[in-house]
Amino acid sequence: MAYMKSHLHPNLYTYLLEHSLREAPILAELREVTAKVPGAQMQIAPDQGQFMAFLIKLLKVKRVLEVGTFTGYSSLVMALALPQDGQLITLDNAENTTNIAKQFWQKAGVENKVEFILGPALQTLPKIQGTFDLIFVDADKANYLKYYEMCLNLLSPQGVMLFDNTFMNASVLDLSSNIGQAVHEFNQFIHQDPRVEIAMLPVSDGLTMIRKR
Ligand code: CA
Repeated sequence: MAYMKSHLHPNLYTYLLEHSLREAPILAELREVTAKVPGAQMQIAPDQGQFMAFLIKLLKVKRVLEVGTFTGYSSLVMALALPQDGQLITLDNAENTTNIAKQFWQKAGVENKVEFILGPALQTLPKIQGTFDLIFVDADKANYLKYYEMCLNLLSPQGVMLFDNTFMNASVLDLSSNIGQAVHEFNQFIHQDPRVEIAMLPVSDGLTMIRKR
């Protein structure tokens, strides 16, 4: 599997996929292409993508902001779920992996809904205009708290933010790595933040949902 494994028991996760996944062929194709790319485990799991698409329809999301494009699985699954007049802005620092993303946005016919901005997100985010109904953050974990503050400013009153890898492959338990430490500090901070309501879901590698109070 070319994505971060679920923390569910493998048999149960296989059952989950076999009994719930409805992955569009274009998404399966992107997963195959991404499997050959270094860092392939950074791609979100297909059941997570399906959940995010579900949320977009449930919340009638029109504008999405994504921090961390990689090869575009999450932006593609979200863009496919958006209405025709929906818009998704996605930010990434890397050009080579986003070239794959661009090819698939075109192939899926969603390129009109997607705007890609190349560059470090910490520099791009302050220039972003308007508010967003859904914000998905799946970028360098050391900056999660900074992304959180910047994205909170860009979140619409009824909007939802999703932060990915909030288990950080279980390294939030033993803090054996800087990345585990950073995600743990982020988790601790938002748990106590009176401005928001949160739900930490054991989806994939931990997915935390955040809304404004
Ligand atoms: Ca991730």
